[in-house]
Amino acid sequence: MAWANGTLGADTGIKWELTPTELTRICKDALDAARAGIAGIEAQGTSPPSFAAGLGAIDGVVADLNEALAAPATLNIIALSKPVRDASDQCQSDAQAFSVAVAADPKIYAIAQAGAAQTQDQEEQQLAKIYLENGRHAGAALEPGARAKVTHLLDEVNDLQIAFQRALSEDKTTIGLSEAEAASVPASLRAAITHDAQGTRIAVNESTARPFLAYVPSTAARKRFLTAYEKRGGLENLRRLTRAVALRRQIAALVGYPNWAAYQLELKMAKTPQRAENLILDLDSRLLPKARSEIAALTALKQADGHAGPLEVWDYSYNEQQLEKTRYSVDSELVRQYLPVAKVVPATLDIYAHLLGVRFEAVKSPMAWAPGVDQYAIYDAASGAPMGWFYLDLYPREGKFQHFEAVPFRSGRVLPDGSYRLPVSGVVGNWAQPEPGKPALLSHEELVTFFHEFGHVMHETLSHTRYASLFGVNVRGDFGEAPSQMLENWMWQPAVLKKVSGRVDTGEPLPDDLIDKMIAAKHVSDGVTWTRQAFFADYDLQLHSRSGPIDPNKLWFDLMPKLRLFHEIPGTYEVASFGHLMGGYDAGYYGYLWSKVYAQDMFSVFAAAGLDNPEIGKRYREDILVPGGSIEPDVLVERFLGRPPSAAPFYEELGLSGH
Ligand SMILES: [Zn+2]
Repeated sequence: MAWANGTLGADTGIKWELTPTELTRICKDALDAARAGIAGIEAQGTSPPSFAAGLGAIDGVVADLNEALAAPATLNIIALSKPVRDASDQCQSDAQAFSVAVAADPKIYAIAQAGAAQTQDQEEQQLAKIYLENGRHAGAALEPGARAKVTHLLDEVNDLQIAFQRALSEDKTTIGLSEAEAASVPASLRAAITHDAQGTRIAVNESTARPFLAYVPSTAARKRFLTAYEKRGGLENLRRLTRAVALRRQIAALVGYPNWAAYQLELKMAKTPQRAENLILDLDSRLLPKARSEIAALTALKQADGHAGPLEVWDYSYNEQQLEKTRYSVDSELVRQYLPVAKVVPATLDIYAHLLGVRFEAVKSPMAWAPGVDQYAIYDAASGAPMGWFYLDLYPREGKFQHFEAVPFRSGRVLPDGSYRLPVSGVVGNWAQPEPGKPALLSHEELVTFFHEFGHVMHETLSHTRYASLFGVNVRGDFGEAPSQMLENWMWQPAVLKKVSGRVDTGEPLPDDLIDKMIAAKHVSDGVTWTRQAFFADYDLQLHSRSGPIDPNKLWFDLMPKLRLFHEIPGTYEVASFGHLMGGYDAGYYGYLWSKVYAQDMFSVFAAAGLDNPEIGKRYREDILVPGGSIEPDVLVERFLGRPPSAAPFYEELGLSGH
C-alpha cells in the first residue's frame, strides 16, 4: 500500500473559514475546472486509448471537484454564519446538478462502456459498473428529450431536499412550560430552558425530545411537547416531500421502472422492493405479539399510576423508563453519572485503536469550522503511517444540522503522481449542552450512538481504494449501516462498559450489578422498537411504490395504527421532519433492517473469538473496511465469515428463533 510517511499537523488542505463571496467563487471555479476537465477527456472521442485516459481520468476530475468542494458544499450543515450556510446551500445545489449532468452524459456513458471492455482489473471493472448503473438511472441511454426531462426532474428533487434539510436545521420550535413543569425537567435538559417575556420555554428538537418525553411526569406537557415535535419542518416541508415523491415517480417512469422503489432498489443489495418488503413483513409479524405485550405492560403501569385510558404515543417513553426503573431497577439518570463525555470519548477511541490497529492523536490547535470542534490525526499502529484526520463536533449551535451523523468530507484515492490522498471525515452531533460549570454526561443510548457513528468514521478512514468513487462508505446503500450496527454490540458487553465508564465524582466504573440490570433490560422494548423500524421502512417503501397521487401525511396516518400500534396525534405532520425521506434514504429506510442481518452475522465471528481480539479486528479491517465499495458487499461479508451469510444471528438477537 502506498501510504504517505511523516507526521500530520492540523492542515488537511481543506480551508474551513470562508466568506460567502470566497465560498461562491471557489465553488464556481471548481465547477468550471471540472467541466473543462470532462470536455478535455471527451475530446478524445468515446473510445479513449486506455482505461486510465478514459473513465479513470473522469473519476479523477470528479474527485478533484469533490475535494475542492469539501468545505463549500458541506458548510451548510455546520457553519456558524447564516450567509455562509446559504452560499453553501447554493454550492451544494450546483454540485449536485453537476453530478446529475455527469451521470446523464451519453459520452461519459459510452466511455464507461468502453472502459468495461478495456480492463480486467477488478476495481476498474467495478468503477465501470457503477458509472453504467448511474448513467442508466440518470437517463444517459435515453433519447435527448427524455434525458433532458430526467435531468430537470432530478435537479428539482435535489433542490427540494436541500430546502427540506435547511428548514429542519433552522427549526426553532419551542413550547411554554408552567413553573411546576419546568421544575420537573431533568438536569440534563436545564440548559435548553429559556426565560423571556413569553415565560418559560424549552427547545423542541432531537436532543431534547428523548429526555423530555422519558422524564417529565406531566402527561399534558408531554403531549404538548410531542405535538410540537411532530410539526417541526412545517407545512412547507410536507409540501416539499409531496412534490418530491411525485417527481421521483415521474423519473422512474421515464427511465423504465414501475415506481421509485424499484428504481432505487435495483442498485442495492436487496435488488427488488419485494425482497425488502418480505424481510420487513416477516420481522413485523414475528415481533407484533411481543410489541402488543410490551404495550399491555406499559398500559398497566400507566393505569396503576392513576391514569385511565390507553397508552398514548406521548406516554410511551415515560412509562418505558418507569418500567426499566421499577422492574429492572435501571435508573438512566444514575447511569449518566458514570458516562461523562471526558471519559467516554477517549475510552471509545482507545477501543477502536486497539481493535483496528490504529493510533489517534489529538491535534493541538484544530483547523475547523467552529470553536469547540476537536480534530484528530490517525496513524497505522504497526507502521506509523499517517492515514487521515477526523473531527468531533458534538454539541448543538444555532443553525447547525440537528441530527447525529458521521460526515465524509474527503475520500481517499491514488493521485496521478502515485501518492495517496488522505481522507477526512467527522462526527457531527447534538449532545445536550451541560449546564455552565457542570460536566457533560451521556445516556447509555447516546453512548451507543456515538460508538455507532465512530464506526462510520473508521470506514471512512481505513478504506484504501484507487478511485474515490469506490472509497469508504460508497457502498451499496443497504449495506452502509452494517459495520456500525455490528459495532453497537460492543456497548452491551460488561468488560467494555467498564472500560468506557468512570463515575463523574469518583472515577469508578459502572458497577457489576448496574451493568447486569442494564443488560437484563436490553430487550425489554425490542418489540416496540423494531416494529417502529419496520413501520418506517414499510411506510417509505409504500410511499415510493404506490400508484396514483399520494398524500404522504394521510398514508402515515393510515399505516401507523396498523403497524406501530399507536395513533398519530391529530393535526400533526411528522413526515415533515422525517429527514431520511429527503436525505438519500428514500426507498432506503429498510436498509437499517436489511443491514442488521449482516451486522449480527459478522458480530457472531467476534462473539466467538473475543471482542478485543485484534486478529479478528485486523481481518475485519482488511476484508470489510479496506475495499470500501470496490467489491460487492455480499462478497466481502462471505469472505469475512468464511461461509455464506445467515439471518439466524439477527433473529436470535431479537429473541426470535427459527429461520
Ligand atoms: Zn449509521
